[in-house]
Amino acid sequence: MNRKILIGGAWPYANYSLHVGHLAALLPGDVLARYFRQNGDEVVYVSGTDSHGTPITQRAKKEGVDPSEIAHKYHEEFVRSFGSLNFSYDMYTATYTDEHKKRVQDMLVRMKENGYLYDKEKQQDYCETCGKFLADREITGLCPVCGAPAKGDQCDACLSSFDPSELKDKHCITCGNATVLRPNHEMVFALSKFQNKLEKYYQDNHKQWRTNAINETKKYLEQGLPDRDATRSLEWGIEVPFEGYEDKRVYVWIEAVMGYLTTAMRVCEERGESFDQFMQDGDDLISYYVHGKDNIPFHTVIYPAIIMSLENGWQLPKMIVSSEYVKLGEDKMSKSKGNLVPILQLAEQFEADSVRFFFTMNNPERRDISYSEEELIAAHNKFLCGAFGNFVNRNVSFLKKKFKGVVPSGVVAPEMVEQTQRAYAEIGAKIEAGELRAAVEQMIGYIQDANKFYDTQAPWTQVKQEDQTDFNNTTATCMYLIANMSNLLAPVLTEGTAKIRTMLELDETPCWKPINIKDGLVLGDCPILYTKIQ
Ligand SMILES: [Zn+2]
Ligand SMILES: [Zn+2]
Repeated sequence: MNRKILIGGAWPYANYSLHVGHLAALLPGDVLARYFRQNGDEVVYVSGTDSHGTPITQRAKKEGVDPSEIAHKYHEEFVRSFGSLNFSYDMYTATYTDEHKKRVQDMLVRMKENGYLYDKEKQQDYCETCGKFLADREITGLCPVCGAPAKGDQCDACLSSFDPSELKDKHCITCGNATVLRPNHEMVFALSKFQNKLEKYYQDNHKQWRTNAINETKKYLEQGLPDRDATRSLEWGIEVPFEGYEDKRVYVWIEAVMGYLTTAMRVCEERGESFDQFMQDGDDLISYYVHGKDNIPFHTVIYPAIIMSLENGWQLPKMIVSSEYVKLGEDKMSKSKGNLVPILQLAEQFEADSVRFFFTMNNPERRDISYSEEELIAAHNKFLCGAFGNFVNRNVSFLKKKFKGVVPSGVVAPEMVEQTQRAYAEIGAKIEAGELRAAVEQMIGYIQDANKFYDTQAPWTQVKQEDQTDFNNTTATCMYLIANMSNLLAPVLTEGTAKIRTMLELDETPCWKPINIKDGLVLGDCPILYTKIQ
């Protein structure tokens, strides 16, 4: 039976270029999507640019432009970044689109009808000069713990975090004037009502999650879940669909994760399908959420609570693919250090396959990894050129040189057929479990075994025998292995495998089952798959 697969890649925030840290966290989503499509499952793979919130408005103010300009600029850059490495989203959109806004507003109305949104009065910092209530990040003052100058809800000097209202001597970050307290009201999401249900959800599902997701979620749930403001006084964002909230916008934490739903809805609509049916919880649907470890509670606590509050019977996140971090050599990457390697720079330097291979083989599944150009080049030379490219090349160029490209017919070695069947089953199971490093390891093993078979059979000697049966059988086997490599490696290596499929006149789209090449095939152009990097 074909399954339904929802894959949500985390939504990058539109105020900084995408870098290798994003890549390592998000690439597993594309490998999953490509594998499931090959397997014949119905895939909805979505993501988009998170484009609202105060960091963007502050930056826009500094640069003297409209926030939408910043959001559009980064959104376009993100689209190019993902495109440069062949990400295959079914839809990649942005939270500033009308399609997203409208659907978020509909969901908020439903949440309120279900009794999970309520209005709350509170005293809030107000700037009389700027004429507005201030967001956390718009307030400066002195740390209530150590007295050092601090901004918003944390102190960089003593690392304490607190409620911004606790700051002493509070000032507006924009104009520098002292703030005053004024009564305000916001719409609040009743997250606390979901404490028990979320604990049960965690109990039922965490065994398939990574350790970081288990630990972070447990910590979050043990602290007890407070209700959270769902709206804030701000101009840039999604309008609140209730009377009396005209000067407020929907808080980013609630509408950005709703993006998985709004975008998957659009994909289903475009396919002429019912999203409601697609999203119904059941064994035929597997949902994957792919992100870095700093995003875990949003996917294991907040987002499930939002789905629960809608009471539609939609599936809560099943598989949490949460990555650790990427370091540069021994250094932590950070904006302040200015040592982030942008995806676009990487894509200019290297082929997409080389980058995809390195970051899948070394995916930070359980611990931080370090990235260096030297290691990426070494992996490219050793595996893509040395093992994979070389196996294809020595078989193909021999046939071209000695046999005008005619592939002889022969019997494929039964042990290699068996090994190939096993490779599909085992690599597939590893990818489905989110164990991509192990999957790549087995892909490499498959290539190495093919090379071993070639070396043991020694077709360059077999060809000199009077009876050509051995040579023909060896060659048929090797061509069979090459054809199946074009399937088995395709979730990771999108370009090299496509070259093989053209060369062997295979179906343009790869599948996930053993295939044979057609009888009497004559090889046409045989491009070099990968070139060694010096
Ligand atoms: Zn302090
Ligand atoms: Zn002010």
